[in-house]
Amino acid sequence: MSRVYNFSAGPAVLPEEVLKEAADEMLDYQGSGMSVMEMSHRSKVYDNIIKEAEQDLRDLLNIPDNYKVLFLQGGASQFFAEVPMNLMKNRKAGYILTGQWAKKAFQEAKIYGEAVELASSADETFSYIPDCSDLPITDDMDYVYICENNTIYGTKYKKLPNTKGRILVSDVSSCFLSEPMDVTNYGVVYGGVQKNIGPAGVVIAIIREDLITDDVLPGTPTMLKWKTQADNDSLYNTPPCYNIYICGKVFKWLKKMGGLSVMKERNEEKAKILYDFLDQSRLFKGTVRKEDRSLMNVPFVTGNEELDAKFVKEAAAAGFVNLKGHRTVGGMRASIYNAMPKAGVEKLVEFMKKFEEENA
Ligand SMILES: *Cc1c(COP(=O)(O)O)cnc(C)c1O
Repeated sequence: MSRVYNFSAGPAVLPEEVLKEAADEMLDYQGSGMSVMEMSHRSKVYDNIIKEAEQDLRDLLNIPDNYKVLFLQGGASQFFAEVPMNLMKNRKAGYILTGQWAKKAFQEAKIYGEAVELASSADETFSYIPDCSDLPITDDMDYVYICENNTIYGTKYKKLPNTKGRILVSDVSSCFLSEPMDVTNYGVVYGGVQKNIGPAGVVIAIIREDLITDDVLPGTPTMLKWKTQADNDSLYNTPPCYNIYICGKVFKWLKKMGGLSVMKERNEEKAKILYDFLDQSRLFKGTVRKEDRSLMNVPFVTGNEELDAKFVKEAAAAGFVNLKGHRTVGGMRASIYNAMPKAGVEKLVEFMKKFEEENA
């Protein structure tokens, strides 16, 4: 067996310990005589798995009792529609456009009501986070929406926008559990787990209880109404059982590692190794304004498309895979999520140095 250093933006690297444990339990989960894949979601054994996963997540993020935790399906992209369906009472909301995922959510919201562009960094290819201290937010807006870490462009909000009293809805898909966060700053926090938590197929949503009501837009499907999911503890229908079980294992791994403050330190340390190299390199260059740099997704370029392609190819041959930038932006991107070991980043930088010497 040989494992590569996988810099994929998602689905992405998972902790090796978790994968090994899952392999050990594949045929017989804790004496049940079956795999978690084969188990009824109504069984006592599975009930323990999903309840424990929720509790561990609550512990990691210090989630207050007045917030519900939901395990949902449909990916983050389906949630783009769930937000207006469940929250647009006045049919008006504000969106801050910091990249493709924010834009897609914005476009989806337009199907249901008036989605207002509050700010955008499109003028400089989304390479920065706009100033959000005094946005044109009005009292009739049902919420303000952000994408907190921009997976494709490599930016991250270091300070949350001033929402002028409106509730904040945040897509944290690619920074989920990478550092501590104060859930009470948000009405809704959600993310697809396939970036930093688990296998694709689960969305975790943390929603303030008073926002979960029967007062949803007409035509909202039963499954997409948060109240349906909350009233049934995410077991209204068959959930993605196995994937939630793996998420639960990752939560336990994070707790064992020391929790989210420790993860933040580790992630800062890893990102610094790469950014410090980029800042002094004669060949490679980071593409994001320094103060807005993501700890999770690090885009960079050589400035020469052919050289970029050569780098991606040679890196893959050396065991550093999935470094090609998103198809819409080109260049390279190294996603260095929680499960990427420091050694992976150090060795990548060594490889980049060598490539620079040979090609600069
Ligand atoms: C990947 C990603 C999405 C889309 O996720 P799907 O689960 O594929 O729908 C949305 N938002 C962000 C920030 C992402 O990184």
